[in-house]
Amino acid sequence: MKDKTLWYPYAQMKSMAAPYEVESARGVYLHLSDGRRLIDAVSSWWCVIHGYNHPELTKAAKDQYDKMAHVMLGGLTHRPARDLAEKLVEITPEGLNHTFFSDSGSVGVEVSLKMAIQYWSNLGRPEKRKIAALKKAYHGDTTGAMSVCDPVEGMHSLFSPLLPRQYFLEAPRGGFEAEQSAVQKDLDALGQLLEARHNEIAAFIVEPLMQAAGGFNFYSPQYLKGARELCERYGALLIFDEVATGFGRTGAMFAANKAQVTPDIMILGKALTCGYTGHAATLATDKVFDAFLSDDPDKAFMHGPTFMGNPVACAVALKGVEIFEREGYMGKISRIESLLKENLLSVKSPAIADVRVLGATGVIEAKDASALEGAQKFAVERGVWLRPFGNYLYTMPPYIISDDELLKVVQTMREWFE
Ligand SMILES: *Cc1c(COP(=O)(O)O)cnc(C)c1O
Repeated sequence: MKDKTLWYPYAQMKSMAAPYEVESARGVYLHLSDGRRLIDAVSSWWCVIHGYNHPELTKAAKDQYDKMAHVMLGGLTHRPARDLAEKLVEITPEGLNHTFFSDSGSVGVEVSLKMAIQYWSNLGRPEKRKIAALKKAYHGDTTGAMSVCDPVEGMHSLFSPLLPRQYFLEAPRGGFEAEQSAVQKDLDALGQLLEARHNEIAAFIVEPLMQAAGGFNFYSPQYLKGARELCERYGALLIFDEVATGFGRTGAMFAANKAQVTPDIMILGKALTCGYTGHAATLATDKVFDAFLSDDPDKAFMHGPTFMGNPVACAVALKGVEIFEREGYMGKISRIESLLKENLLSVKSPAIADVRVLGATGVIEAKDASALEGAQKFAVERGVWLRPFGNYLYTMPPYIISDDELLKVVQTMREWFE
């Protein structure tokens, strides 16, 4: 690439191939400047669940821009932020009654960690300031978030001397339908950690049911049920990072619903704002929130990103939830899941280690990353946008994708291996 003015993410700028120029996008299609169009099979890093340029979402954004693009939430308030806070409380599991906004998933995670640590401090337990996390986790690229990502594989090992030291457990094994005995082994490890270190541990953070960017590890709802009990027993808050899993991706509105487990704190991002603008929400139960109520000003939560509760972000998110509910998206998601199961699980090749599907997510895990070299170009030539990473070739399509379009995506993934 000649032009190095723009520095791209996760890219070696010396050797990076020229990126594809997108001129516009509509529905599931990216329209390239050379006239080609590609089905976006990864929803622009999983956020564009309604497809691009959805007329109602675009109108909601435009209408809000005409009123005001932004006002601070410090000392001021507005309808879109209040309505969205209320809506998120309504659609998330019972008990999550308070919404704190921020500008991206990573910041939403930072907020959750600070909230958990200050919760214990406010209760007179300031020594509880470590976090337990899982290997294969990905929680974002900012410092606190990096500290709870997989310490070796999480892209951040270079920075490990700078990061707070947290406690890591093996990623839960055995997949979504793991045997109870396998789940129990992993829970025993969590129990041992909490028993030994509960005086230091403020919270246990997980991506519920599906570890996404750290390697698409699906795991059992039983693990979350067991973790809920152990956190209760040893006094650790349970944090669900649903930035990737939220809004239907695992086949229920939230992974928490699918597992029937309510965390103390839950983070939403990515699909929250449907790809229109960055935003995140960190929700908390009364138990957490009430620990910040005090006559002592130092017990207040001292965090406030400039753009938190941005009215345009909130207006789009509200419209997004409305469309999700009105158009029966859970039905679309289960249709995607069954098409993926019927057509992806049977892909065979000596280069493949595993194929798995959960909700609207389909993953082919190669034995070696080299098996995916050239896969992106191959897909683009067939009209499909995929972005494999590590050993994983995956699809997380917009939920509005048609059967034919989805079959084209799956066929492309098949052909690459077969
Ligand atoms: C993408 C992601 C994040 C980070 O969100 P950003 O908006 O990129 O900061 C955090 N947690 C999970 C589970 C994610 O998938």
